[in-house]
This record gives sequence, structure tokens and C-alpha cells, in this order.
Amino acid sequence: YDKNNLEPFQKVFYQETPEIRNMTADEVSELRLNLDNIKIKGHGCPNPITRWSQLGLNTSIMNSIKNVMKFQELTPIQAQALPAIMSGRDVIGISKTGSGKTISYLLPLLRQVKSQRDLSNSETGPIGLVLAPTRELALQIHEEINKLINDDASLNCICCTGGSELKDQISSVKRGVKIVVATPGRFIDLLTINSGKLLSTGRITFVVMDEADRLFDMGFEPQVTQIMKAIRPDKQCVLFSATFSNKIRSFAMRVLKNPITITINSNNIVNENVSQNFRVCESDTQKFDELISLLKERNDKHEAQEGFEESDNLQDNKTIIFVASQQICDILETNLVSSGFEIFSIHAGKPYQERVLNLEKYRRTRNSLLLCTEVLSRGLNVPEVSLVIIYNAVKTFAQYIHTTGRTARGNSKGKAVSFLLKDELAAAYILKKAMREHDFENQDPLDLTHLNAMNAEFEKGMNSGQYKLFSGFGGKGLENMDTKREKKE
Ligand code: ADP
Ligand code: MG
Repeated sequence: YDKNNLEPFQKVFYQETPEIRNMTADEVSELRLNLDNIKIKGHGCPNPITRWSQLGLNTSIMNSIKNVMKFQELTPIQAQALPAIMSGRDVIGISKTGSGKTISYLLPLLRQVKSQRDLSNSETGPIGLVLAPTRELALQIHEEINKLINDDASLNCICCTGGSELKDQISSVKRGVKIVVATPGRFIDLLTINSGKLLSTGRITFVVMDEADRLFDMGFEPQVTQIMKAIRPDKQCVLFSATFSNKIRSFAMRVLKNPITITINSNNIVNENVSQNFRVCESDTQKFDELISLLKERNDKHEAQEGFEESDNLQDNKTIIFVASQQICDILETNLVSSGFEIFSIHAGKPYQERVLNLEKYRRTRNSLLLCTEVLSRGLNVPEVSLVIIYNAVKTFAQYIHTTGRTARGNSKGKAVSFLLKDELAAAYILKKAMREHDFENQDPLDLTHLNAMNAEFEKGMNSGQYKLFSGFGGKGLENMDTKREKKE
């Protein structure tokens, strides 16, 4: 290919809607956390989308998605990979099996292929190429493409795999074909037949490597490399895989141009050494009573342990109690002290010297209790913290990650207990997503019933636009001002 003499083609088919474009950085990072912890590498990645309509696809494709395939919501990989690929970028998409990767590359592929100049009489195609490791997978992708093409006569697709009849494939190719799904070996075979007059790479502008991990496990790297070299250098190229080994990474970095890497990390939001737990409370009074009984239970455990162990062998199990504001911090401190607990408390309303002193005492005292606001605790590293109590329900994933992250430092284990009032629906939604199987098993069944109901209500409200996850930290009014002041300090 002569780089200066390539026929231009369109790669960019996507423009962010104002709603998506105007999200703040905090909102975008909260949305990515919400979407199974999307992680991005590479520059200039567009924001994730939340609805199919934000892609600007034509009504025929939208109809296939909504009414034929019946996909209501986007999966996380789709929410991020679709806008990235449709912006014309090379993309590496890493997401577990069954997470909807196929649609993530097929919609952009079809869009791009459809917009290119038609095949001339002397051209065989293809324009779009999908490489897959096995015959079964290739057939499956082929079927999916046919569903999406529906009755669009301007598009056609063939599946070329080792097992199928070469003759049949050749006769269909002779009529010209826009999209080829193939295993790498068979695709090279077809390229070499009739010295390239049957099928050629000359018009290919969109290439997919699907299940790249398996392509490589099966030893297809040389063939894939050979195919890539035969295609114009400014092609759009995407790679999808369930896993991302170093081998694939270095291959991808060699073959893709300035790629965006999208990794979906479901269920990995909270450190897995933290066991998660919660209580749903009817009132503030009940919440306080629950707190007291939780702390008493813990004290009893510590005392029982002290009966057994040698004194220089004693563990230090510290606790942090998080509250939403300075006011709550002060009130709770008073109440806990009058219930007989020794409390060290820090918030931005206290003089600096007092904060430093309290923190120092907290560090030195075994099994001590720290009461603080979330913002002030950022970066706090006290290895002996084994329990985090989230007294005021969190409003964002980011907040939940920061607070639970104060325990289980290094390799040690920790526990996080959240207190929820019945109307704190967002927290129920966040917990439901962040908790793991064994956390649910260790949970009081009645509380779990409440959580599920609250979560369902929040999801319903999100779909109808009534509820939204808060962006950034804190809520409104006073609380928010607190947060800003504390941030500054
Ligand atoms: P992967 O390639 O990541 O293993 P697939 O693309 O094969 O996953 O999709 C897995 C299944 O999920 C398929 O049956 C597919 O039809 C379905 N699916 C894909 N996207 C969605 C969606 N947005 N909503 C519901 N189901 C979906
Ligand atoms: Mg797949």
C-alpha cells in the first residue's frame, strides 16, 4: 500500500449527545464504576453511554436490537466499546464470556461497512473481516450478523471455516461479499486461490479479532499477523478477548494504532479481603441501638480473647465509624461516650492539633474506635483496622470503595458493615452490586429481603429517570458545604 495513495474512507460515526457530553469527570467515573468497574487505558476515550438511542443508529438496526433480539439495556462492554469504536478508534475490549462482546463490534462494523463505496465489478470484497478461532464460533457470529442485516440488501456476509465446503464458499465469493467471518487459516487459503482474484484484502477497512486469547492458544498468531500485514495500514482494527495475557497485549500494541483498552472487571469493585455486611433500620434510634450492640459484641469478643492469649501476643482490632457530617460526628460522639465507649473523633471542624492528637491516640490504643467523616479519612492508612462501620449510607460507588478500603490493608482481612435507613435506596443498589455471593449467604434473611426490595425500587426509579446516583461526594446543602470545606482542608 502506498500510504499517500489510499482511497479515503469514513471511520467516525458517533457524536456524543449533550446529555453524555456534559457529564462531569466525577459523574463519568461513577458511571464507569456502576458499569462493572470499567477501566480505560489510552487517550481520548468517549464517555460510556446509557441507552441504545444515544448511538444514533438507523431505525432498522434499532428495530433488530429492541424488537428482534429484545435487548433492553446495554451491557457494560457495549456501553463503553460502542461509542469508542464508532468514534473511529482501534479498541481492545476485555470482558468475560457472555458479556455481550459480539454486538460491541458488530454494530460499528456494519455501520462502517455500509457507508463505504460499493464494491465495483472488479472487486470481490470483503470490506469487513471478522477472525475467530473456531468453526463453531465463526458460524455463531455469522448468524448474529444475518440477524442484524435482516433484509438490508446492501449488505451480505459469508462464513469461511476449515470444515465447510470450499467450493460453496468460492461460488458465493465470486458474486462479491461485503463481510467475511473466517478462521485465520481458511481465510489465507481463500486469499491465495486464483492468486488473489477470488478474495482480496484490498478493500478491507474494518477488522475484528474475536476471542483473541483462544486465537493465540490455538497457535494462530503467525496467520493473524500475516493477514494484518496484507490489509491497508489505516484500517480500523478491534480486538476482543475474555482474558488479556502479556502475549496478546504485546501483539495488540504492535498491530493496533493508538488503541483504547477497555477492561470490564465485574464484581471486583471492593477488595476481596473485605467481607461486606449491612443492617436495614426503621429509624435513627434503632440505628443507634444496633451500633451499640455491634460495638458491645465486639468488645466482648476482645475481652474473651484477652482471657486466653499471652499479653504480648494480643491482636489489635481497630474500628472506624464513618458518618456523613460534622454534626452527626459530634452528636454520635456524645452519645457513644455517654454509653461508656472511649471514642477518638476527627472531622474538619476540630482544630488541627486536636485531630492529630486524636489520630495518634487512636493508633496507639489497642482495639480503639475512630469516629470520622469520610472525606477526612482519605488516604488514612492504619493497618490494624479490621472493622469499618458505615453509619450513614453511602451515595456513590466511589464513596463505598474509599470507606471499605480503610480496612483489609495489605493482605489482612477486614469487615465492612453498612447501616441503611429504609429510604436510602441508592445505597441498597450499590451494596447489591458490590457484595459477593458469600456475603449474601452470611446476611440476615430479613435484611436481605429489605435490600432486594429497596434495590428493585431504585432500579425502577433509575429507568424512569426519577432516581440517579449522586455524582461526587456528599449530598446537598449543608452536608455538601461540609464536604467542600473538608476537601479544602
Ligand atoms: P461474549 O462474546 O462476551 O461471550 P456474546 O456476545 O456471545 O458474549 O453474548 C452473550 C449472550 O448475551 C448472547 O446470547 C447475546 O444474545 C446476549 N446479549 C448480548 N447483548 C445483550 C444485551 N444488551 N442485553 C441482553 N442480552 C444480550
Ligand atoms: Mg464472544
